Amino acid sequence: MKSTKSLCPECLAVIDAFLFEENGKVMIGKTCRRHGYFEDIYWSSAKQFKRFERYWHDGAGVKNPNVLSGVCPFACGLCLSHKTTTILANIDVTNRCNQKCPVCFANASSAGYLYEPSLEQIRVMMQMLRNEKPVPCPAVQFSGGEPTMRNDIVQIVRMAHEFKFIQVQMATNGVKLAEDPELCKKLYASGLGTVYLQFDGVTEKPYVINRGYNALPLKLKAIENCRAAGLTSISLVPTLAKGVNDMQVGDIIRFAVNNMDTVKGVNFQPVSFTGRINREERMVKRITIPDLFDLVEEQTNGAITAEDFYPVPFVVPISHFTTAEEGIPDVEFTVHPHCGTGTYIYVENGKIIPITRFIDVEGLLEYIDELASSSDRGIGKSLGKIKRLGSLISALPKYIDLAKRPKSVDVKQLLINVLRDGTGDAIKEFHRHTLLIGAMHFMDLYNMDIERIERCGVHYATPDNRIIPFCTYSRS
Ligand code: SF4
Ligand code: SF4
Repeated sequence: MKSTKSLCPECLAVIDAFLFEENGKVMIGKTCRRHGYFEDIYWSSAKQFKRFERYWHDGAGVKNPNVLSGVCPFACGLCLSHKTTTILANIDVTNRCNQKCPVCFANASSAGYLYEPSLEQIRVMMQMLRNEKPVPCPAVQFSGGEPTMRNDIVQIVRMAHEFKFIQVQMATNGVKLAEDPELCKKLYASGLGTVYLQFDGVTEKPYVINRGYNALPLKLKAIENCRAAGLTSISLVPTLAKGVNDMQVGDIIRFAVNNMDTVKGVNFQPVSFTGRINREERMVKRITIPDLFDLVEEQTNGAITAEDFYPVPFVVPISHFTTAEEGIPDVEFTVHPHCGTGTYIYVENGKIIPITRFIDVEGLLEYIDELASSSDRGIGKSLGKIKRLGSLISALPKYIDLAKRPKSVDVKQLLINVLRDGTGDAIKEFHRHTLLIGAMHFMDLYNMDIERIERCGVHYATPDNRIIPFCTYSRS
């Protein structure tokens, strides 16, 4: 089917790998001269693999790399070969944590050392991210450990706001947010935009397995406190594992629907394996993005199906358009098409309506790309601008099925504002009416594809002034 590069899970040597189709699935196979042959499921549906493959876009990478050459993935970086700028940067602010999850080896007590960059080191990391060229990193997420273990987390969030990140996010288990309503208010006041809330499910069981106790009441309290404080952009983050919460996918989406005033999305993360795990166990436990599609479809009774989902780089034409409009390069979501996926849903009178049911998204995005690259494009030329937006506005009705659209929102105006404005208030307004149901499948050593790593847009900044793709960070 195709060849790529991967790592040997035993010795981390860079080795040839190939993707091949078997029983309707896409498999990854690779042979290490010292450690033999390894095989895993890459994508559990060859049909969906091929559909997503169509949206491959190589980005231009960074103009001011930290490293000029080396062997991927060991030369980060970012290096000259990297193809996507930083879309979202993580900064680990501590490895202390107030939970002792049986599944976690990263916290300070298990790791046996304390990692906690100083405020000055965090400032330097943010500066490095904002200096990235040609597109300054637009979004930062504080992670850990548990970021709220730091007494100066509010100050750190404020610093990010002062650096003018468009999105300031925090990944959290929610314990402190549940205990301390004042902290929620302070975080909101200091510019926190999105709370990435670890959220394993809607019953006690997944929490007991993953966290060692029933954390559900605490999650509900955290959401309530965020709502009261004005922190109304929560993304629920379930790590999806077979037998733990794969039967709760539909319920988690319904929970998000019922809390749409505060919850803006669900970001499912199929589990990736740490440590040694044998082939048989992997074959049974592996969940890939197409498996998630099946779970969503079954558990929402077809309200959302696989065909409603698109890969992350599907939206690249919007960046082409806004770049042409604004005259300055906009962030491009050029990650590998098999890394992540998403769809937007509207909810009207309790009924889920995926955006794909009333907008011909494929046709619209093709047209947007055509407009962006039309001969009179001339970045920043005002005549080109007026013509482009005018053409788009008059063409929009062709792509919207008025009979099927939600009646409570002016979808056409909303889209025009998003395309005109790019990343600012119009996007916020769009998100006010929708829920983003998405997934990112972080890789492990068994399914690692270096083509994906080279195109990664979710990075870590480190105190030694490097920027490292999320999927290789824990191995660097
Ligand atoms: S992951 Fe990116 S930055 Fe790191 S070595 Fe590979 S291409 Fe370079
Ligand atoms: S973090 Fe991993 S899964 Fe996500 S974009 Fe980067 S390489 Fe792909």
